[in-house]
Amino acid sequence: MMEIRLTPLASGSKGNATLIQWQNNCLLIDCGPNAKTLDARLDDLGLTGADLTAIIVTHEHSDHINGAPVFARRHNLPIYMSRGTYMAASHKFNGQESIAFFDIHSSFELEGLHIHPFPVPHDARENCAFTFSLEKDADEHLGYLTDCGHITPHIVEALQACTHLALEANHCPKMLQVGPYPAQLKKRVGGDYGHLANEQAAALLQALPQVEDVRLMHLSEQNNAPEKALEIIRQAADAHVNISVAWQDKPSDVLIYNPKKALLKQAS
Ligand SMILES: [Zn+2]
Ligand SMILES: [Zn+2]
Repeated sequence: MMEIRLTPLASGSKGNATLIQWQNNCLLIDCGPNAKTLDARLDDLGLTGADLTAIIVTHEHSDHINGAPVFARRHNLPIYMSRGTYMAASHKFNGQESIAFFDIHSSFELEGLHIHPFPVPHDARENCAFTFSLEKDADEHLGYLTDCGHITPHIVEALQACTHLALEANHCPKMLQVGPYPAQLKKRVGGDYGHLANEQAAALLQALPQVEDVRLMHLSEQNNAPEKALEIIRQAADAHVNISVAWQDKPSDVLIYNPKKALLKQAS
């Protein structure tokens, strides 16, 4: 089967983890929630930690990595991250985990899944986002982008092949402005190394004409509302694009990437 399934298990500032499934394998992108929560979310989907191949981590912020040490030790899973992420987070590990490094500028493969990391501007040591494909040189990809302060030409290029995308829509700038965060935190979240606003996610989507299905990720509970994010991004997207929101407290709708061109190739 040529598909990759992406299911957000938890998304938002209280913890992020997203399940990627392909062939008979699965892995987690990020591991913010604690092991008990993650075990319960996997159980909701009929899976256990033992079904996983690995954890891949985008960066060292606690909402992405805090659950990783216990969860990885409990299920004997390797944790893949950049060297910079490890340097910033090494105090969270006790030496019993199996840590593997990837270069955020180079693709790597796990059990037939091609993982293409790329750097994004955010206030972490060496953070990244990913696209995925089942063929090395596939012309359609599945993308995952969160914790991104602003859109760069490199990001637009890295996501250009995406037909399916998990995309940060963190805040509404107006809600952030009048919201409860202290001034310093408002500046950080809304700044060039913070998080994507709904409008920035919408503008990125307009630069990615191949995208047909989107999960909006990492919505702020304080500074955004699902209806608000959906409204702004639906306005910007083509009418045929399917868009829904990923939740903090439960697994979200699955994003099923099933490259058409590869199917055509198989059929011919
Ligand atoms: Zn985050
Ligand atoms: Zn972050």
